Amino acid sequence: MNKIAFIGLGHMGLPMARNLLKAGFELSVYDLLHSTMQELVGEGARAANDARDAVHQASVVISMLPASRHVEALYLGDDGLLAHITAGSLVLECSTIAPQSAQAVHRAAAELGIELLDAPVSGGTAGAAAGTLTFMVGGEASTLAKAQSLFQAMGKNIFHAGPAGSGQLAKVCNNQLLAVQMIGTAEAMALGVANGLDARTLAEIMRQSSGGNWVLERYNPWPGVMENAPASHAYSGGFMAELMAKDLGLAQETAQASGNSTPMGALALQLYRLLLRQGHGQEDFSVIQRLFGEPRPSEPDDSP
Ligand code: NAD
Repeated sequence: MNKIAFIGLGHMGLPMARNLLKAGFELSVYDLLHSTMQELVGEGARAANDARDAVHQASVVISMLPASRHVEALYLGDDGLLAHITAGSLVLECSTIAPQSAQAVHRAAAELGIELLDAPVSGGTAGAAAGTLTFMVGGEASTLAKAQSLFQAMGKNIFHAGPAGSGQLAKVCNNQLLAVQMIGTAEAMALGVANGLDARTLAEIMRQSSGGNWVLERYNPWPGVMENAPASHAYSGGFMAELMAKDLGLAQETAQASGNSTPMGALALQLYRLLLRQGHGQEDFSVIQRLFGEPRPSEPDDSP
């Protein structure tokens, strides 16, 4: 059985690593926050002292970090982690980062004889916990074939998007669309409730009508409409607004480079920046609801 090093045990990495343990893989784990490592030690993982210690004797490395700068700082440079990974090993870089950063890490890995895939995910923390994530994979098809059992332990849909960096490109397009859907849904919810409609009734009507979308299905931003959505838990957990702002920035950089016009994505980025300036960056991205209107005082903010 392959020995796996898993680096980055945040909202996503922790449940992903847990599913690998459940599938019987042997894991060394590392995060700057030691408390999350300890959670997995109780479930059979080895807590590494640092990233280098984690990859010692591992033939597979999986990383789930916040942004491009974290991934580049970890892997690249003369003494970066790639220099400490055995040639022939497999690296699955699952963070959402700039396609150009992913390509730089791909190139550096290839020079050292390391097979790497950019493999960002979709499905949120619920998908990570349930092992139903979608992986959007960039890199060689032959490398993807070797990684199938690992992806299947953590996800349900595994797509080969194309060559190095393609997984990130697909992810950037997806998240731009998700942000636009979230903002449109929050705007419509506020409009209906402000004019006297019941939030749950409106949500159900739109869900079953032509406005239906993923946000209305699984992630309603109005508190109390969906018991399990972050909105019903004071916008805690889930996908931080600052990470969505990062992804929208990546979409704009990509559009700039290719000369595409993405006005909805540009507006979505501006609205998320405003939200960050109001201090909501660490809350779930559905907190964008607050820009458009919140429940009336008589309506509990966090009722199930
Ligand atoms: P997070 O901030 O909860 O977790 C990141 C973890 O990485 C933290 O625990 C942090 O301590 C750790 N870390 C940072 N630098 C490190 C280093 N050098 N060595 C070891 N650990 C380090 O973020 P998240 O929500 O888990 O998201 C991770 C990635 O997945 C991001 O790129 C995000 O855009 C993407 N993503 C998130 C979601 C979601 O719903 N949260 C969904 C899809 C994709």
